[in-house]
Amino acid sequence: MAEIQKKRYKLACQKIWNEVKFLKIGVRITLPRKIILEVIESSEDHPDVDEIYRRAVAKDKSISIATVYRTIKLFEEANIIEKLDIGDGRARYEEAGAHHEHLIDVDTGDIIEFQNEELEEMKRQVALKMGYELVDHRLELFGKKIIK
Ligand SMILES: [Zn+2]
Repeated sequence: MAEIQKKRYKLACQKIWNEVKFLKIGVRITLPRKIILEVIESSEDHPDVDEIYRRAVAKDKSISIATVYRTIKLFEEANIIEKLDIGDGRARYEEAGAHHEHLIDVDTGDIIEFQNEELEEMKRQVALKMGYELVDHRLELFGKKIIK
């Protein structure tokens, strides 16, 4: 398949998959909701509400900031998106999915995603030692880049 066709095919699949998600969480599919979900899922960064609003409004002028707030809350409660707090008072959002951790560069604000199996095992063991089964966890690392 040519690149452009592949891209179109991927987009079509994503659209169908998103409609399945709406059915699964039992919310009515509306155009603003579809657009907001697409904006979050297509974001490589971790946008905050204002940024999601900016990107959504570029696709549909009729979307209001209030709609964005309401929709994000709805998606968060339905666990199709996740909130990320990097300690600057602005909640950021990303698509819920493959588990990963975040390393936040405190100088630039860059958010770097990573996965570490040893860390996962360690977290399970820590909970276990305290008499708990680990069901969920979040970890944000804050760092300054070492200049060599
Ligand atoms: Zn992330």
